[in-house]
Amino acid sequence: MEDCIFCQIASGKADAEVVYQDEKVVAFKDINPSAPVHILVIPREHIPSLNELESEHRELIGHMALVMKDLAQQFNISESGYRIVNNCGSDGGQIVYHLHFHLLGGKALGGRLVQNQ
Ligand code: 5GP
Ligand code: ZN
Repeated sequence: MEDCIFCQIASGKADAEVVYQDEKVVAFKDINPSAPVHILVIPREHIPSLNELESEHRELIGHMALVMKDLAQQFNISESGYRIVNNCGSDGGQIVYHLHFHLLGGKALGGRLVQNQ
C-alpha cells in the first residue's frame, strides 16, 4: 500500500517517533497528540479498519493488546490509568484507513462517551 502513510511509517519510508516495533506491530507517537501520552499502535499488515478483521488476525490483535499494556507500563500510565481508542469508519471518526489503536494517558481524560448507569 504505497499511498498509505502508516504503511510508509511501518516500512521506515516515512518518519515517525517509533517507541516500539517487532515483526508484527509498530508503535509511534501521534503527530497531533490529544494527551501527554498519545501512541498509535498498528499492525505491519495493511488492514484498513476493524471491519476487515478476519479470524486469522486473532493472534495479532491479542499481541497488540499485550504491546499496549507494556507501553502503558513503559510510559508510566499503568497506575494512573489510560484509554485505548479505535475509530472505525466515518461515523467513528476514522481518518487514516490502516487499523490503529490510540493509547492515551498522562492526564484525566474527559469526553467520556460511554456513561455509567
Ligand atoms: P483516526 O484515523 O483514528 O481518526 O486518527 C488518525 C491519527 O493519526 C490522528 O490522531 C493523527 O494525528 C495521526 N496521524 C495522521 N498522520 C500521521 C503521521 O503522518 N504521523 C503520525 N505520527 N501520526 C499521524
Ligand atoms: Zn497501510
